[in-house]
Amino acid sequence: MKRLFPSFALILLTAAVCLAAAFFPCRDTAEPPPAVFVPVLLYHALAQELPDDPYNLFVTPGRFDEHIQALLDAGYTFISFGELWDFHANGEPLPDKPVIMTFDDGYIDNYTLAWPIIKRYGIKAAIFLADATIGDGEHLTWEQMREMEATGLVEIYSHGLVHHDYAALPIDIAVAEVLEAYENILRNLGRLRTIAFAYPYGSSSDELRAALLDAGFDMQVLTGGGLFDAVNGDYTAINRLQCKQGMSGEELVAVATNSMEN
Ligand SMILES: [Zn+2]
Repeated sequence: MKRLFPSFALILLTAAVCLAAAFFPCRDTAEPPPAVFVPVLLYHALAQELPDDPYNLFVTPGRFDEHIQALLDAGYTFISFGELWDFHANGEPLPDKPVIMTFDDGYIDNYTLAWPIIKRYGIKAAIFLADATIGDGEHLTWEQMREMEATGLVEIYSHGLVHHDYAALPIDIAVAEVLEAYENILRNLGRLRTIAFAYPYGSSSDELRAALLDAGFDMQVLTGGGLFDAVNGDYTAINRLQCKQGMSGEELVAVATNSMEN
């Protein structure tokens, strides 16, 4: 027995080291994987003649065109949320400089003014809209959305059933409304899956984001500034860069490339 003891002790020591390594990995020295920043651009409306616009919601078609041209000239590729998700969930590659274009609220000028430009460049864009506003004269109709989606360039996603503050509602009612809005889009546009939701006013809470994730909303989009890190970022809190009329194409490229501020 005496001769066996050292090897028995060695086995015990090895087991202890393995257990310790399993329970206490070297967190202090582990580096997060390198970031892949994806600027997610936020537009609302286009107008030839700018109205009184305290919230910077409008850009002219000329400025919109300039933004796109500048980003393309700088080597950016417009991708869809579907492609972003494929990167995250399935490891599909992203282009070198990915960028996502989004519109909130689904104003009718997204079809009359932005869509001809989007189509001409052949770039991708996503529109988030609240069901209650669809076809009310100021916002897109189902027919217009079908036409844009059929080209594969535009994705339509939910901005809620009604354009209101979902974080202020009881969680179960908020989730039920967002699900109803999703099912309405599914029924009318016939797509298999609507995986993104943009919070009206960017207003969310940790509890609501978790509840919507449980309900299947893998990507949840806010309005705050900053570039989204597709590798280490939180897909239930995707920030966006608000694109303003006062921003030149060059300035937008600088913000998209260099800055975490907006
Ligand atoms: Zn909105």
